[in-house]
Amino acid sequence: MTELGLLIDLHLRNHRQGPGSTTETLKAMALTGLNPASSLKVADIGCGTGASTLILARETNWQIRAVDLFPAFLKKLEKQASSLAPKQTISLAQEDMNQLSFKAQSLDLIWSEGAIYSMGFANGLKKWREFLVDDGILAISEICWTSANRPAEIEAYWNAEYPEIATLEEKAKQLESHGYELINSFILEANSWLNNYFEPLEQTIPLFLKEHKHSELAKKVVEAHRMEYELYRKFQAYYSYGFFIARKI
Ligand code: SAH
Repeated sequence: MTELGLLIDLHLRNHRQGPGSTTETLKAMALTGLNPASSLKVADIGCGTGASTLILARETNWQIRAVDLFPAFLKKLEKQASSLAPKQTISLAQEDMNQLSFKAQSLDLIWSEGAIYSMGFANGLKKWREFLVDDGILAISEICWTSANRPAEIEAYWNAEYPEIATLEEKAKQLESHGYELINSFILEANSWLNNYFEPLEQTIPLFLKEHKHSELAKKVVEAHRMEYELYRKFQAYYSYGFFIARKI
């Protein structure tokens, strides 16, 4: 199995593929101000196994297109979504978020948790805007500095991993310069990283390593995860995901 295949297999075992929580998904949903009872057109981009997709589907009558690049994630989502029938408000699309096939002005809401960094925040803001109807809503989480001053070690790590990392204020300005009006934003809580992401993933590791016969590549994937976990434990005061809810203007 390739390194990417192993990474997918590791994350497939978790309920979420990035930090987040039901409470925060619901909070962002309420902040959109959109009517849960309307059959709005919604995309959940970089949905993974659909932690947020399933919440939105359960709480609303929205027609949700769940988009991810990797079929294994979509397959797990499909299985979980079948328990929601007969509502069947979720459809799946295996697509690259850089080249989405939505028609211009066809979406009332674009949702994306912990995923826009794959194409870059500014790039995503630019490319996705055309898919939104006038006054359409964007609800996205993005890695942010939560402090103006950071220790050199964590600054160097994130600048290498994702140079676009910036403060919430800087991200809000970017939203405005790309044709969105910020409605609200909030920072994900530490437990959304620890209890919902790092810790459950950590618990799957022994079986993951066993199933992959403790291969060097499997150990490498685990090491990268553990380093992220360690850094978060040490430097959690300095970064988190910001959840931004904005309107197309
Ligand atoms: N929203 C989910 C998953 C976040 S992890 C959650 O919060 O749990 C980021 C997701 O983006 C992964 O599922 C990954 O497969 C997906 N992804 C990465 N690059 C992508 C691309 N170019 N196009 C579409 N999805 C992509």
